[in-house]
Amino acid sequence: AKSAGKRQWCHYQPSLQAGLVARHELNENLDTAIAESAFRLYYQPIVDLATGALVAFEALVRWPHDRRGMVLPDEFIALAEESGQIVPLGAWVLERAAQETAAWHAAGSAARAAVGLPPLRVNVNVSARQFRDPGFVDVVRGAIRSSGIPPQSLVLELTESVLMRRDDRVHTDMRTLGDLGVGIAIDDFGTGYSSLSYLREFPISILKIDKSFIDGLGHSQQQYALVEGITRIADTLGVQVIAEGIEHPDQRDLLAAMGCPLGQGYLFARPLTPEQARTFIEEHTLP
Ligand code: C2E
Ligand code: CA
Ligand code: CA
Ligand code: CA
Repeated sequence: AKSAGKRQWCHYQPSLQAGLVARHELNENLDTAIAESAFRLYYQPIVDLATGALVAFEALVRWPHDRRGMVLPDEFIALAEESGQIVPLGAWVLERAAQETAAWHAAGSAARAAVGLPPLRVNVNVSARQFRDPGFVDVVRGAIRSSGIPPQSLVLELTESVLMRRDDRVHTDMRTLGDLGVGIAIDDFGTGYSSLSYLREFPISILKIDKSFIDGLGHSQQQYALVEGITRIADTLGVQVIAEGIEHPDQRDLLAAMGCPLGQGYLFARPLTPEQARTFIEEHTLP
């Protein structure tokens, strides 16, 4: 057993080493990128499934990199969480998304109001480490104040990993954010230690049902029943549901038929550049 362990160690060491080097390099580059605000936000539409109206955009971060091309968040968010770099990066994302939303409001809120639509909302992803940082609530307040957007136009997307640690700080901060008027969404619902009790315990306004449930809607009666059940319970509690990862018209139709109010996915649009988002707004506001 001893020699097998040794062999294994020898076998894995080179790739581990290479991983560390790549990690180190990525970390240093991340620092520079944060200092220079070298990131970009893309915006994916969230639509009303009954009418097709645009309701919100989810801000999704990208990192344009000299050699690596457009780096997707799955490649650097986890690393930034480990190192704590997610704190300044996340603050930048909040600021930037709030500024962009203020620009959308300035350009298009009157046109939306004329057809009975409320101002566009923006959904921003917040990682557990970022939420736990003592400065987080102030960063949210700052983004709202400097952009001038109504707090109701900002939605924070949290994963269950935040809510699982039911300590006093989490409860206090959630209450403060709720009192501010900011929306709070549970992201990827159904993938982790999902518990509907979160809806009772925290000021949650939105529940996002994970793509893995939406994928099976058409062929699995069980998945269908689950999504329908979650939607009904959420509705009873006054919580809005967003179905994630809708790719096919039949998924949209099933969701609309069961009364799921909102959806997001490639069927409607991929994440858009700010310029493309502005065009999308124009095309989805006027009747
Ligand atoms: P998420 O929050 O669950 O975001 C949804 C992801 O699914 C996005 O990937 C989006 O492009 C993708 N997606 C949307 N519709 C569809 C669809 O119909 N089909 C498929 N196959 N995919 C779809 P993306 O942009 O690569 O982001 C990945 C994850 O990175 C996000 O998952 C989120 O957890 C994290 N992330 C992104 N931006 C931020 C950020 O600013 N801060 C933090 N903390 N995390 C972020
Ligand atoms: Ca999200
Ligand atoms: Ca999600
Ligand atoms: Ca996800």
